[in-house]
Amino acid sequence: MEGKTETACRICEYDDGTVLYDEYGCALFVICPCCYSEAGVEDCRLSGVRESRRLWLASGGKWHSPECRPTGWDLEKQLANIPAAWR
Ligand SMILES: [Zn+2]
Repeated sequence: MEGKTETACRICEYDDGTVLYDEYGCALFVICPCCYSEAGVEDCRLSGVRESRRLWLASGGKWHSPECRPTGWDLEKQLANIPAAWR
């Protein structure tokens, strides 16, 4: 996977273009404005991703920074984009 940066949150799939993992796969510890997860902390392992997502959805899928929420944002559509590797 070297050479490809990751911009989508592994937990909630929100993607505003901010690089979360660089081209070497190193986490940049960016806090997701949507689910409040930190890249490189909860999302290193699939089990952590699933648990964090479960907790976030159980709390209602709220935005940590509502001012960042795009107009017309749709939780279901965002979740549908989660790649198979992080489901
Ligand atoms: Zn997120």
